[in-house]
Amino acid sequence: MSQAKAYAAMSPTTPLVPWTFDRREPGDKDVRIEIAFCGVCHSDLHTARGEWDGVKHPVVPGHEIAGRVSAVGKKVSRFKAGDLAGVGCMVDSCRKCENCRRSLEQHCSGPACFTYNSVEKDGTTPTYGGYSSHIVVNEDFAFKLASAQPLERVAPLLCAGITTWSPLKRFGAGKDKRVGVLGLGGLGHMGVKLAAALGAETVVLSGTAAKKSDAKRLGAHDFVLTSDAAAMTKNAGRLDLIIDTVSAPHDVGAALGLLKTSGTLALVGASPQALALPAFPLILARRQIAGSLIGGVAETQEMLDFCAKRKVYCDVEVIAPREINTAYERLAKGDVRYRFSIDLSKL
Ligand code: NAP
Ligand code: ZN
Ligand code: ZN
Repeated sequence: MSQAKAYAAMSPTTPLVPWTFDRREPGDKDVRIEIAFCGVCHSDLHTARGEWDGVKHPVVPGHEIAGRVSAVGKKVSRFKAGDLAGVGCMVDSCRKCENCRRSLEQHCSGPACFTYNSVEKDGTTPTYGGYSSHIVVNEDFAFKLASAQPLERVAPLLCAGITTWSPLKRFGAGKDKRVGVLGLGGLGHMGVKLAAALGAETVVLSGTAAKKSDAKRLGAHDFVLTSDAAAMTKNAGRLDLIIDTVSAPHDVGAALGLLKTSGTLALVGASPQALALPAFPLILARRQIAGSLIGGVAETQEMLDFCAKRKVYCDVEVIAPREINTAYERLAKGDVRYRFSIDLSKL
């Protein structure tokens, strides 16, 4: 065992505090990664504060991990000490079920071992995430990172990047497609950058007028303020696809109205409270709603390689670990442009 330093939520109602816990020594197929940066996802906040069902404290959040390999097991073939590596939302899966065989490890019937608030393959050891000094993970769930990249800006790709990339690819975002991104936060800003990089005409759908100038800078072609009734009417029926990243209850019916006939709203935002769904915007134009959960291992590496080649990185505000509670307060208010990235060298 090795002792990891971390920041943990010990209960849903108390601030995160410094904490230590044991990580296993690398097994034959494991790599140990010293964590350089970890992004702060709104899922971390939902979990730490017990907003979703099934949270077991203490929680060490963090599933947007970038760092450097410091040790490898004797059967590891893809990494050596000194290599850069990333870890996302999963640390293992059964490898045998139908979903694993289809490269949909996130839907493993096992279920998948998620990076925090989950259990390891042994079914009992709790998983602790990336707000920590190091992590030990099976090499199949570690990602190759190209060198000469700003790691603090690469780390958040491991969740915000893949969560928007997966539905963009699945629903054909590209040239001659008009894609809306609802909610311009951590996921949303990556949705905009990736949709634009894939060649789609990209429209930001935001409740915050002050984000209009950012939208253009991030690569969006247009900006619609969702509270502006005239703008919503003007844009009705124009979009092929919407990536809905909103973290709280919101007007899904109004968003559906922006889709063309047969258009798709891909929901990735994980509001703890149920969303109201009016029937008519859906049935009158046979629109559809789809869910999407992060992405599989292969498509995550594909996204990382695409971003390295095209230099698509997250816009981050780097913070020290001790600033995490202030960061959560700001994230809850939507006051972040557009991802906090924790510098773990300051742990
Ligand atoms: P974030 O940075 O806080 O962004 C969420 C954005 O949603 C905000 O910037 C804001 O955008 C909008 N918003 C927030 N509250 C709203 C409200 N009450 N009404 C309308 N709009 C509101 O969060 P994130 O890290 O991008 O995560 C977004 C959601 O996705 C979270 O629920 C998270 O748990 C979930 N998530 C899901 C997956 C998955 O695999 N499906 C993966 C990661 C995260 P505007 O100011 O532009 O309106
Ligand atoms: Zn996340
Ligand atoms: Zn499986």
